[in-house]
Amino acid sequence: MLTVVGSIALDTTRTPFHTVERTLGGTATFSSISASKYVPTSIVGIVGHDFPTSYLELLKNLLDIRGLRISEQEKTFYFDSSFGYDLSKRTTNKTELNVISNYQLTIPDEYIDSEYVYLANNDPVQNMNVLDLFSKPKLIMCDTMDFWIMNKRDEVIKLMNKVDGIILNESEAKLLFKESNIFKCARLLNSNGRVFAVINKGENGSLLFYDNEFYPLPAYPTEIIKDPTGAGDSFGGAFMGYLSQQGKIDSRTLKNAMAHGNIMGSFAIEDYGIDKLVKISSDDIKKRHEKYKEILSF
Ligand code: AMP
Repeated sequence: MLTVVGSIALDTTRTPFHTVERTLGGTATFSSISASKYVPTSIVGIVGHDFPTSYLELLKNLLDIRGLRISEQEKTFYFDSSFGYDLSKRTTNKTELNVISNYQLTIPDEYIDSEYVYLANNDPVQNMNVLDLFSKPKLIMCDTMDFWIMNKRDEVIKLMNKVDGIILNESEAKLLFKESNIFKCARLLNSNGRVFAVINKGENGSLLFYDNEFYPLPAYPTEIIKDPTGAGDSFGGAFMGYLSQQGKIDSRTLKNAMAHGNIMGSFAIEDYGIDKLVKISSDDIKKRHEKYKEILSF
């Protein structure tokens, strides 16, 4: 069983072409929907009293939501960000933690023996507390972002020391280690007994470091880019979803997981919020996977 823990948010996203307000977002949302294309997925998170019922219904139709809590006292986590014409650079306008800063996450008994746990970007203390509730996961992966690296760096490091794999985007990895060389960052992420590290480079693809080898993979070249929000989470969800579907860890499986991460990331950016992720079928994923393989063979 795969359980995804993270933020469930209302996002306002501004691009020069369009603005979406208070749409369904959050790291657990993107990553669990993406993972659910590979295996049944459970989501753990907390929303507030302002969370629309239609979003709850949507999540319920795609995921196991027994681990989703609703606070009657607080508002949902809110994230407001903008992109300029360079859609690879995001500016955060507002982060309102609301319910995620004051609530202790719990998991239903049915999730305790989850074999795969993905701690998506979230308060590292929350994520560490939830991690303690699982009996003995086979594989734990985590993600984080600049907000937590700047506000709770020590806790981010502590969390990283409890996981088997880390996925980070390029600028965050560089910020975390105060290091400009991406290969050095990957090595550092892979230290302390961790099995693998993945660095996401957006439109420049991704880099896997496993068993002392680097495996770079270019991004899937989609020509439609509407909203890059959630691309990293969709990558992470697909990566974990694929690994739990395969049930093994070796370089071939990890490289394939990375390909699926790139594919789901490419779908995510083709529409606003989760719209595209929700619409695509396993056939769409299969076709894109075939095309991706074809363009990468030489
Ligand atoms: P990304 O894959 O990096 O584009 O992640 C985008 C998602 O991260 C958005 O849907 C936000 O709601 C969520 N998010 C933004 N800031 C934070 C934060 N500090 N903690 C947890 N989630 C966040």
